[in-house]
Amino acid sequence: MNHAAIAIDGPSGAGKSTLAKRLAKELGFLYLDTGAIYRTVGLHALRQGVDPGDEAAVLALLPGLTVTTGYGPDGLQHMYRNGEDVTEAIREHQVSDAASKVSAIPGVRAYLLEMQRRAARESDVVMDGRDIGTVVLPQAQVKIFLTAQPEARARRRYDELLARGQQADYEQVLRDVIDRDWRDTHREVAPLKQAEDAILVDTTQLSLEESWQRLYEVVKERLSQ
Ligand code: C5P
Repeated sequence: MNHAAIAIDGPSGAGKSTLAKRLAKELGFLYLDTGAIYRTVGLHALRQGVDPGDEAAVLALLPGLTVTTGYGPDGLQHMYRNGEDVTEAIREHQVSDAASKVSAIPGVRAYLLEMQRRAARESDVVMDGRDIGTVVLPQAQVKIFLTAQPEARARRRYDELLARGQQADYEQVLRDVIDRDWRDTHREVAPLKQAEDAILVDTTQLSLEESWQRLYEVVKERLSQ
């Protein structure tokens, strides 16, 4: 049986995970946050004392790493690193950077590809990431490219960090956003780019609720075609 798939790609901080999660709930689909998978690999490298940018050393870690996804009673996606729940730990600031570095390694992407495709074979999914519409699920019925200007994304990430009680410096957050964008769009394998058949949704000027309205409208229209 063929399942429906909705791919939501775009840079960090555009609102992808919040909106994708809500969309999955609304449609009764499974939500898969693929960034969380790369984050788990990044965290593993850091915990093993390995430089996330050291390709050979990161690849050598993969046979000793099992990444699994589970869903709590709340329906939220939990990530497990060799059985340990790392859902909270992968959100730390250094892990964002580590995830971006390990995700540029072709062997890491190949290693995680099947895991993502399996999820789409087994259920109707809303999957968010960077290369879902272009590489992971090129056959997805709906592809959205969700983006916003770097300053708007940095401001949201900064507010999020403060709300979580973490220390943050806006200028630093903005520099990190720009660095990550650069790495995500310039890597050789599966760079972040809009699929030709993806619909662009720019949330720079939109509130979260307005972004949701816009996204839901677009998805409903596509699904009914
Ligand atoms: O989306 P999130 O910020 O959690 O992703 C963390 C990092 O994982 C991103 O900076 C990106 O480099 C990488 N990533 C990726 N491909 C995906 C999802 C995330 O390369 N499909």
